[in-house]
Amino acid sequence: MSAVKGRFAARTVKVKAPGKVNVSLNVGPLRTDGYHSVASVYLAVSLYEEVSATSRPGGDITVSISPDSTLDLDGVDIPLDSSNLAYRAAAIMADVSEHSTGVHLEITKRVPVAGGMGGGSADAAATLLACDALWNSGLSREELAHLAAELGADVPFSLLGGAAVGLGVGDQLSPALAKAQMDWVLVCADYGLSTPEVFKTLDRLRDAEGLDVPEPIEVDPKILQALRGGDSEGLSRLLVNDLQRASIDLAPQLKDTIGLGEAAGALAGIVSGSGPTVALLARDGDAAEVLADKLRHQGHQALAVHGPVPGARIISDTLL
Ligand code: ATP
Repeated sequence: MSAVKGRFAARTVKVKAPGKVNVSLNVGPLRTDGYHSVASVYLAVSLYEEVSATSRPGGDITVSISPDSTLDLDGVDIPLDSSNLAYRAAAIMADVSEHSTGVHLEITKRVPVAGGMGGGSADAAATLLACDALWNSGLSREELAHLAAELGADVPFSLLGGAAVGLGVGDQLSPALAKAQMDWVLVCADYGLSTPEVFKTLDRLRDAEGLDVPEPIEVDPKILQALRGGDSEGLSRLLVNDLQRASIDLAPQLKDTIGLGEAAGALAGIVSGSGPTVALLARDGDAAEVLADKLRHQGHQALAVHGPVPGARIISDTLL
């Protein structure tokens, strides 16, 4: 970290970064390194985390959660220490930045915590971009993506946004064309599922079946075609998530939520990533609003969103 000479001029950079749904998620067998290869189509949706990074003298990194967060965070476990993904992102940026300072990160949480939508990953992506600007690091998008991959498999996608195919552990991304907007309703749960636990459960279920699972090497091209053409009906027949059975094994009520959504007018429903958020595909924006309303009347926490949306971007940069 560099010493800051003279009067310290504090600056705040605010960045927003989207959560994601996996339109498709194929998962390979457990690898010897403890990871799973995946082939996934990611879609960034209009539910955003916000990180406000304020420079401070010294070298400390501190984290707080904004009271503007729209989530009910009572009883939700979000670490504020060095295990917070945003903290880790700032620490990585400080390591590579010549002019780093201390920084306070205030996170506005909107993406369900441990919900399978990559909320923590969005915080990390937003923090990378905010600290890059704050410290004039001048890293390219590629360099930032490289740091993002060190923080977690879903972090590079939140940086990139849009729609993308993810291979490897989900970090090898190729942008996919998706011109038309797809409309979804997210049904959020009042509990979380641990991603490692869901993967372990999938391994256990597969072991019990004794079937050989192939390494996923590509996504179904029909999914990309449906996305490209904005064909929500076609896409609804192609949604796939290998983790869904494991999430349902851990939280059987998820099956009812999907059934309920489909009965209420969704084209199709799927568990998002490792869950427990359920993503319901709607015919269009109006249908999504009607569906979300119906589900809210039934006591569910339902939000109409759309995607693709852009990845992490700066929304303000203020000298204090
Ligand atoms: P993914 O789909 O990428 O696996 P997720 O959306 O299911 O992630 P997150 O909300 O990212 O899950 O958080 C998972 C866990 O990580 C939380 O239970 C929490 O303990 C920890 N965590 C670390 N940093 C954060 C953060 N910035 N926001 C939320 N949780 C965080």
